[in-house]
Amino acid sequence: MKSAHLNVRFICDLCGKWFTYSDNLKRHQRTVHATTNMDTTIRPSDSGNGS
Ligand SMILES: [Zn+2]
Repeated sequence: MKSAHLNVRFICDLCGKWFTYSDNLKRHQRTVHATTNMDTTIRPSDSGNGS
């Protein structure tokens, strides 16, 4: 018999990526999407352009 828990997938509503553990999904959203309202300010030039 297979446990039903093995088929459980946690899908990200923002990008559609799925994870086998809810903790992974939470961490994904916090790191990739930053769902918190702290990152509302988008910086256009924030990806390594020193000179
Ligand atoms: Zn996502």
